[in-house]
Amino acid sequence: AKDAGKGHWRSFHPELHSTMVERMNLRTDLDRAISAGEFTVRYQPIVRLVDARVVGLEALARWEHPLRGTLPPAEFITVAEETGLIVPIGIQVMRHALTAAASWPVGDAGPAPYVGINVSVRQFRSLGMVSGILREMHAAGLPPDRVVVEITESLLLDENEQVWTDLARLRAAGARVAIDDFGTGYSSLSYLRQTALDLVKIDRSFITGLDRSPSQRALVDGIVGIAETLGLTVVAEGVETPAERDILIAMGCTHGQGYLFSKPMTEQETTGWLGRKD
Ligand code: C2E
Ligand code: CA
Ligand code: CA
Ligand code: CA
Repeated sequence: AKDAGKGHWRSFHPELHSTMVERMNLRTDLDRAISAGEFTVRYQPIVRLVDARVVGLEALARWEHPLRGTLPPAEFITVAEETGLIVPIGIQVMRHALTAAASWPVGDAGPAPYVGINVSVRQFRSLGMVSGILREMHAAGLPPDRVVVEITESLLLDENEQVWTDLARLRAAGARVAIDDFGTGYSSLSYLRQTALDLVKIDRSFITGLDRSPSQRALVDGIVGIAETLGLTVVAEGVETPAERDILIAMGCTHGQGYLFSKPMTEQETTGWLGRKD
C-alpha cells in the first residue's frame, strides 16, 4: 500500500507542483501589484429598459499588468480570494470607483447615476468592512445614496447574524444593497424576503436566449413578479439583444445591463458616454 501510494504521488506530483508554483508566482505578483497600485476599474451602465436611460454604473475590477496587459477578474480573483489579497485590492478598486462617481454629471432628467461596488464574501467578513466603505464614501465626497453594494447569495447563506446587521448598517447610512447573480445560489427565494435588500440582479445565464426558451421565460417572469411584490428593483444582467430586452419589458422587468447598452468602459470613456447627446 505504501509503494502504491508512492507511485501515485510520483505520477501525480509534476502537475500539482506546477499549479502550486503558478499560484505562488501569482500571489507574489499580486503583492507587488497592490504596492504598485495596478488595479483600476471599468464601468458598465445599468439602464432603464424602456428608454435606455442610465441609472447607475457597475464598477468592474481590472489589473493593468505591466507585462501582460489589462487582465479581467477571472485571471486573479480566485487567488486573491484564497490569499485574502482581495481585501487590499478591493480598497483600491473602491477608491477609484467612489472618486470617479463623485464627478459624474447629473442627468438631463434625473439624478446622477449610482455606482455599483462588488463586495465578496471574504471582503465582507474582513474586519471593519462596513465602516471602511462608509469612510471611503465620505473621503470621496460621494453621498451614500449614490452607492449600491453588490453581494452574492453565498454571503446570505452565512448563519452569522452579523451579515444582516452589517447590511442594515449600510442601508441605515443611505446606501443600497443588491443581491448579485441571482438564481445561481441555493434556496434563493427565501432571501428576497429579507428587508436588508433593495435590488435583485438576475444572473446572465437566465437572460441569454430568453426569447427562445419558454422555461427560462417562466423562471424570469416568476422572479420579476415576486421581486415586484416585495418592492425590490430588478436588474437583468447580460442583455445582449433587442429581443431579450423586449421580452424583459413585457414581463415588467424595469432595468438591465449588458452589451446591448454598453460594454464596460474606462473612466475616460465613461465620462464621454455620460455626457453624450443622443
Ligand atoms: P459580475 O458582478 O456578475 O459582473 C458582470 C460581468 O459580466 C462582468 O465581467 C461584465 O463584463 C460581464 N458582462 C456584462 N454584460 C455582459 C453581456 O452582455 N454579455 C456577457 N457575456 N458578459 C457581460 P467581468 O468584468 O469580467 O467580471 C467578472 C466578475 O468578477 C464579476 O461578475 C464579479 O463577480 C467579479 N468582480 C469584478 N470586479 C470585482 C471587484 O471589484 N470586487 C470583487 N470582489 N469582485 C469583482
Ligand atoms: Ca456584480
Ligand atoms: Ca452578476
Ligand atoms: Ca410579469
